[in-house]
Amino acid sequence: MRPEVVAAMTPVFTEHFGNPSSIHWFGQHAKSLIDDARKHVAKLINAETSEIVFVSGGTEADNFAIRGIAAKGGHIITSTIEHHAVMHTCKDLEKSGIPVTWIPVSRDGVVDPDDVRRAIRPETVLITIMHANNEIGTIQPIEEIARVAVEADVYFHSDGVQSTGKIPVDVKKLGVDLYSMSSHKIHGPKGVGALFVKKGTNLKPMLTGGGHERNRRSGTENAPGIVGFGEAARLAREGLVSEMERVRQLRDHLESELKSRIELIHVNGENAPRLPNTSNIMVDYAEGEGLVISLDLKGVAASTGSACSSGSLEPSHVLTAIGKTPDEAHGSLRFSLSSMTTSDEIDYVVEVLPSIVDRLRELSPYYKKV
Ligand code: PLP
Repeated sequence: MRPEVVAAMTPVFTEHFGNPSSIHWFGQHAKSLIDDARKHVAKLINAETSEIVFVSGGTEADNFAIRGIAAKGGHIITSTIEHHAVMHTCKDLEKSGIPVTWIPVSRDGVVDPDDVRRAIRPETVLITIMHANNEIGTIQPIEEIARVAVEADVYFHSDGVQSTGKIPVDVKKLGVDLYSMSSHKIHGPKGVGALFVKKGTNLKPMLTGGGHERNRRSGTENAPGIVGFGEAARLAREGLVSEMERVRQLRDHLESELKSRIELIHVNGENAPRLPNTSNIMVDYAEGEGLVISLDLKGVAASTGSACSSGSLEPSHVLTAIGKTPDEAHGSLRFSLSSMTTSDEIDYVVEVLPSIVDRLRELSPYYKKV
């Protein structure tokens, strides 16, 4: 978290801990802090304050949007590269009898709006396509997809967890009805997020109870978390354009240096519009897990798309969706930069990674045969 975020949250734990729903001044002060946070989050994406519903994070925002629209049945359209919060929600609904169309992506990881148009059925109720992908950073043609949704008169949800605060987001210009956000992706606290719900959207609440958040999401508000999210949103908006250009330059430098120092590496999604802070590199003849562990020992926290499930390593569904074989997908390495990343840190990665790759490739029975 940014120090300013911690500073904004601390008094909400220690002094202003009234319940925002209480009538007394103590509660009303906490409510006014939440109202301020709502203004900052709304401003970050050019929404109205009444269109922001605070929730427990991106996962809840995605579940709320999808389940809330599909509550009465119908058909859903989504893509093959969604985050698990969307993918598993759609799979769960599929099991309960709601048909889902999974739109494939190009080799660069981009959805074709014409594919979405062709998938529309009379009973379609929702299109849910992410704004930017969390593994490879590719940015989807949201405005074009929104036009398809408007023509067909169906709701359009976009998972904006990765794009919010990283690229300019204007929900009115994008044309979305629902847009998910998560605080911890923009240097705010974990466990808090928001769903933009366009005025007039008919969305069934997931949580029933005291009718908080204009009856959209019951439960006493996470006041410190929301205040922290608000401050993070304010800071993100202030520094967005200049900071992200700096981050893009660092990311480009990282990729070009690694390409010049290590043979047989590729940048996934390189030819598509991409977030400035994400770099997904595929290293032939090296395991992503081995790369991540070796980098960790050097103090570098990176990730690989592969997930360990039932004792075997599952390749990333995003990388297989862009046409990589499971072997190729296993060699992927993801770096996430932020406005706090320094050029010294990038230089350090450029310095340590080549020897790590050499060492892992020596262990590969296939590498020497090249
Ligand atoms: N959607 C995307 C694209 C994400 O990257 C993430 C988290 O990484 C989520 C949803 C889930 O957000 P949260 O961790 O706040 O539940």
